Amino acid sequence: MKEQTDPLLDAIEALTKPIRVKVPQIDDAGQHIKTWTITHDSLLDQFRAAVIPSTNTAAGSSALASTRNMLDSTALYEYSKIASATGDWCRLVGRTATRDAKENLTHWYPAFQAEYPEPDVTKWYLTELRQWANLIREHLDPPRRRSITYPCPVCGKTSWIGADGDGGTWPLELQYRVDDSNEPVIERVICRACEPHTIWPTRDAARELLEELTERHAG
Ligand SMILES: [Zn+2]
Repeated sequence: MKEQTDPLLDAIEALTKPIRVKVPQIDDAGQHIKTWTITHDSLLDQFRAAVIPSTNTAAGSSALASTRNMLDSTALYEYSKIASATGDWCRLVGRTATRDAKENLTHWYPAFQAEYPEPDVTKWYLTELRQWANLIREHLDPPRRRSITYPCPVCGKTSWIGADGDGGTWPLELQYRVDDSNEPVIERVICRACEPHTIWPTRDAARELLEELTERHAG
């Protein structure tokens, strides 16, 4: 593994490099047999494939015609924005802009670095890149949800009604993802009954809330 200390390059590679995922193979008795490494396309390639599903020829042959032709309008809109923004970045450093966001970023980075940018400027780009990565991850793999079976500590309610007339018991919703080793990673908690919705926006805030709730309702 090469040494790398530039967060900007890390943020670019998070978008442009293929993603390697380790998947353990377990036999019927629960014994670990071996670990496979599966390589996925980069986030930008996956996002682009969501925009134009027919370019994904490997899946195209077996996929239903209806899913193959389905246009993901959110991905199309967001991808176009990223492609156009990275095109602007290229023009600013004297590089040719393309419609391919990945290509733009690959061309932009060395030219941008060659200008010895101020830390504040670099930080701005870093924020943009990280937001794009989060947006794509969220789009490709929406968070999993689970209701927390305690009343909300803010509004005290035990049920909720949504704007679309949906709703149910327990307004506190825990949103989480599953990491590469199948462990849940908490992202946030939302109260769907509070007006406006109360959000515990980070893993730490969510953990603190869960601890508080468990303590309050214990015994
Ligand atoms: Zn609430």
